[in-house]
Formats: sequence, structure tokens, C-alpha cells
Amino acid sequence: MAAYSIWVMEYAHVLEQPTSLFIYGAHNQGHRKMPYGYIVVKGGGRTSMIDVGYNHAAYGAVLAASYGVNTWQPPRVVLAECGVTPEEVSNVFITHAHFDHMGNLEEFPNATVFIQERELSKWVWSMSLERRFRWLMLGIDPADILRTVDLARQGRLVCVDGDRENVVPGIDLHAAFDTHTWGSMYVTVRNDLVANSSDAWVFAGDLVYAQENMRGTDPADPQYIPVGLATGSQFSLIMTTEEMIERAGGDLRRVIPVHEERLKDLFPSRITKTGLRITELALADGEASRVR
Ligand SMILES: [Zn+2]
Repeated sequence: MAAYSIWVMEYAHVLEQPTSLFIYGAHNQGHRKMPYGYIVVKGGGRTSMIDVGYNHAAYGAVLAASYGVNTWQPPRVVLAECGVTPEEVSNVFITHAHFDHMGNLEEFPNATVFIQERELSKWVWSMSLERRFRWLMLGIDPADILRTVDLARQGRLVCVDGDRENVVPGIDLHAAFDTHTWGSMYVTVRNDLVANSSDAWVFAGDLVYAQENMRGTDPADPQYIPVGLATGSQFSLIMTTEEMIERAGGDLRRVIPVHEERLKDLFPSRITKTGLRITELALADGEASRVR
């Protein structure tokens, strides 16, 4: 009995991303494809999203070009593949403010947006620093920060401080401060809606990019290896990785890195006519598959 249908929707990708971004210290290990995506969680009369992608316009397009992003499609096109419109999205959970996760909130006019207060306030602080600190702003579009602050003025922003359970039935927010970013968070979906769920999914944002962050590169001797980009600390990333895997009942496959192309080896998926992948993690009772 699953409460929610859950899809990972690729909306763009980078064909050749250096492996050292995915895995700390993995220099001279070539490149791999990096999908950009967001998550749709639909059921019980509600549609929620985890992250919203970026808008391929203005500085968003400049940042995307600098990272070699291809094949961008707007949410209306991407979400149609799972039968959802941007207007019906009622809740958005932002894992962190990097442009490819928080850069398209204007496309979701009816959504209430949840973000950690620390994520927003520390980026505002970072924006105020002198130019020599600009490395801290890597991957941030200042206009996204301003648009998010404006949502507070519109009564559509919820600033969370730490963990919060059941923001929507079965969906919990978990703070991961000073990790990939100042106030990253990850999201769990307990798809049986019970407290000690045996059907829990963990949506990791960029706390892990790839399976190797959770199991290392030697199957005989697993270890945690952090991602290659942290505004906070690698220690905090590693301890958060342990916590996420515990919340997924010890099953690494249920910790979902949105930038991991190899989700296709674990779950049913298909390529859409725009060349992007839709991956189906769960189907609510009565919901038809969108990949078969
Ligand atoms: Zn990020």
C-alpha cells in the first residue's frame, strides 16, 4: 500500500562532468554524465516537488553554459511526462539554493516553498561579502535568492529551522547544516505513512551525487567518500550520509542522488521524446505507470 507515486524527472544534463566533482579526490578518473533533475511526489490529492531546477534565461542560462548543460526543458514539458502541471504543485521542498535546484520557483505559482532558514540567510550574508570571497557563491544565482525572499512577502515561504516531521503526511524534512551548503536539507518520504517505516525513501539533494559517495569504489571494502563540492565540511557530509542510509533502513538504493545517471540500473525508466529520462520509484495505489 503506497501512499505516493514518486518520479525522478531529468530536465537537463551535462554530458561530460569531471568525476572529481562527484567523488572527492577522484582526479584523472575521466568524466561521466550528470543528469539535472527534480522529484515529483503525488498522492492523497496533493502534488509535492523536491527542488525545481533552473530557468534557462538570464543568469541561469549563463551559469548553465559555464557548466556545459544541454537539453534543458521547462517544467511544463518535463512534468507532462508524469501527468502533472506546474499549477497543481502545492508544496516545494528546496534541498539547497544552488541554481540547478532552486532556480525556477516562478514556474510554480501555487506552491508553498519550504527551505531551511539558515540556507537563505547565509546566502544573503555570502552575497554581502567582498569580491575575494566569491568562491563561496559558486553555483548560486543571486536573483534566485531575491525571488525566494520575495515569496515570504507573498505569504508562500516557510523557513524551517532544523527537522520537521509530517509537513505533508509521511514527508519529513531533515537539516544537514554546513555540509554541501550552509543549510542543506534532505527529505524523507515514508510511503506507508507510519513512523518506523519499512518503505522509506530519502531524497538527498546534493549531499551525495553518486553511489560511490555511499559505498566507495572497492566493493570488497566499502567506505563513505564525500562529494567534491562542500561549502561546509566533509566531516558533516560523511556523518549525514550515515544518517540518511539509516533512515532508508540501511538500503543504499533508497537514498536517491538526483545527479546519479545509474538510477536507471536500479529502477524502471524511459527516455522521453526530448531525450530526458523519467524514472519511476513508486506508484500509489490506483496510479498507472508512466514508464511502461
Ligand atoms: Zn548543489
